[in-house]
Amino acid sequence: MSDRIPPQDHPAYEIIGGATRSGLVILCDHAQASIPAEYGNLGLPPEQLARHIAYDIGVETVSRTLAAALDAPAVISRFSRLLIDPNRGRDDPTLVMRIADGALVPGNARIGENEIRERIERFYVPYDSAIESTLAGVAATRVPVVLAVHSFTPEMKGIARPWHATVIWDFDPRFNLAVLRALESEPGLIVGENEPYQGGYQGDTMDRHCLAHGYPHALVEIRQDLIATETDAKGWGERLAHLVRPLLDDPALRERAWFGAHPPPRTRRQIA
Ligand SMILES: [Zn+2]
Repeated sequence: MSDRIPPQDHPAYEIIGGATRSGLVILCDHAQASIPAEYGNLGLPPEQLARHIAYDIGVETVSRTLAAALDAPAVISRFSRLLIDPNRGRDDPTLVMRIADGALVPGNARIGENEIRERIERFYVPYDSAIESTLAGVAATRVPVVLAVHSFTPEMKGIARPWHATVIWDFDPRFNLAVLRALESEPGLIVGENEPYQGGYQGDTMDRHCLAHGYPHALVEIRQDLIATETDAKGWGERLAHLVRPLLDDPALRERAWFGAHPPPRTRRQIA
């Protein structure tokens, strides 16, 4: 039993070290657009890799700022969601996207089972195991409280998205609703619940690592134009740290609790 999670480097992930005492663990599934050279950018031009289809713009800086401000461990993925999406179940048809927001991904278009298995072993499993081991390390001190940081594109299929930040959740209200209410208390913020898409997916990160273990969790989505610069992303990281810090004292977060129909499988939700 240790009071700190040590930092760790791996080609597929980075663990930012932090204290275990608050229970908080930050997860950043879509931190980077990195694709190893041998994949030839999956046949995409560089401008496509700079878009939201390759990663969640701004979230790495938000997550690093949060981790530093709260001295909490964070697990950061180091591969593009276009290679394989760690926020999906292994059987999910969107695990490897053939078309992403209108862009055909040539390197994925005719991908076979073997190649998918290779990417699972090279990227998905190491990142997944890093989350698992970090949560287990924290659980030796107290029940982990997970904050997953994502970002969404300001416009999808010609429709503008008004929310500045949202919380996406399905079953466990404890930390999700606490974070949602804290965001709503911020003057001038337009906050959405289960926007711009509905709830979770069976087998996604929150499902595998939190609902399955009874750990309280929240998934925050921030609109990408608000965190597109380093300065703005740091500002949002500090803002979230300020909002989240007092919530971690809630006794409801100190116990494991099971919500929804876990472990029986749940119905898939709408994909946005
Ligand atoms: Zn994301």
